[in-house]
Amino acid sequence: MRLTKIVCTIGPSSSSENILKKMIDSGMDLARLNFSHGNHQSHKKTFNNLRNLCNDLAIGIDISGPKIRLGELEEVKILKRDEIVNLTTIDIIGKDDLIPINYPKLTKELKVNTSVFINDGLVRLNAESITDDEIVCKVIDGGEISSRKGVNIPDADLSIRVPTKKDIVDIEKACDWGTDFLFISFVRSVDDLKRVKEIVESTTKEDIQLIAKIEHQDSLDSINEIASFSNGLMVARGDLAIEVGPARVPILQKQLIQLGMSLAKPVIVATQMLESMTKESLPTRAEASDVAHAVFDGADALMLSAETATGRHPLLVMKIMKDIILEAEKNLALDRPLVVDTEVNIGNEIGIAAVRLAKRMSVKAIIALTQTGYTASMVSRNRENLPIYAVSHNQFTKRVTRLFWGVKPIFHKYEDNYDELVFNVIKELHEDKYIDAKDNVVLVAGSMVGISGKTHTIQLLNVEETLSTKK
Ligand code: PEP
Repeated sequence: MRLTKIVCTIGPSSSSENILKKMIDSGMDLARLNFSHGNHQSHKKTFNNLRNLCNDLAIGIDISGPKIRLGELEEVKILKRDEIVNLTTIDIIGKDDLIPINYPKLTKELKVNTSVFINDGLVRLNAESITDDEIVCKVIDGGEISSRKGVNIPDADLSIRVPTKKDIVDIEKACDWGTDFLFISFVRSVDDLKRVKEIVESTTKEDIQLIAKIEHQDSLDSINEIASFSNGLMVARGDLAIEVGPARVPILQKQLIQLGMSLAKPVIVATQMLESMTKESLPTRAEASDVAHAVFDGADALMLSAETATGRHPLLVMKIMKDIILEAEKNLALDRPLVVDTEVNIGNEIGIAAVRLAKRMSVKAIIALTQTGYTASMVSRNRENLPIYAVSHNQFTKRVTRLFWGVKPIFHKYEDNYDELVFNVIKELHEDKYIDAKDNVVLVAGSMVGISGKTHTIQLLNVEETLSTKK
């Protein structure tokens, strides 16, 4: 069983029913719809298709956040070093040396001599002078720009925050559709997440999971608060590398994964994992190594972006990612992540005890009876190389736990008698060939069925013996 999960971004290359079905069959764990591109109508169609094809698949909607972009350009433009260009906050079609930018307050908030990065940081301008609606810039690093390319200004303290007006509409739509996860872009403080949470709570009763995309220095400055409030983190390496510099990204990736493990919150590693496969049919050696090292770091999930959204080989890239993950997982012990404990509480201690017991007693699997996913996360965070069967009567929990490292979610109807529940779960897992008669399993649960978010109980059970109790 693959332990590290795969998130695939759906776009023009993958949104047909036929490709979606194949991606689901080949192990996509979470489908990401990126609201920075496309429109509600097309996303809704994909959302419905995904739900109809597989109700067990997790779906995450990525909210654009306060990402500044160029406006429309008449044509693709190549900027040359030392050339002078003008960024304008007036909504025009860009041509010659006049380039529209979609943030009207920029001329007020930007200071002279600040770097402006365009197109994933490939192009760098320096702001030479600023008027009411124009910024005169000198090209420092030249390159290609085109309509709606992203703009980053790491040294400016811009007042625009998530959720923007567009984000609010997008969040309401996503909640109405019944998304499982919201990925929140450009989180800078815990208050940004709290504002998103308020919108979610005013729209739906479901506990939609908020994943904070870490891609700004400010989010690193208050990472403990952000990680504690959110339901998980994304190492959004694309923008993060522009905002803090690429040299810091590998170590930040490790630190954010460690933080996620210590808090039992899933961490997704994103962007350019197999980028060259948007065109080629083989990854570079460096990309293969990057995927494997994210596995060694202990990431819950790895994300494909352009590779599956607009790339030429959405299915092949998934297969290659799966192969690299499985190969790396054979060697997890070579570079095992160490869980750093933050706090002593019952859930943490039961999770640690469960994996220790499983190891010492040569157990084949850990079963977590879980209403909200909490119990499953307490086991998963320890990264013990064993399948964790997360058994729940809640379909939402079943989809959400799919993102957790090592977890295979299993649906089992609600039962209020604890002993009956344990017996029936073991019976079902045995019948479905997840566990053999001779196997020992560790089972963890909240001992009081119906009370969520508590993990009290740990049992070591032999499958045959358990099943013989009702002959
Ligand atoms: C990133 O920057 O790595 C990222 C995942 O965000 P975006 O949605 O902008 O690709």
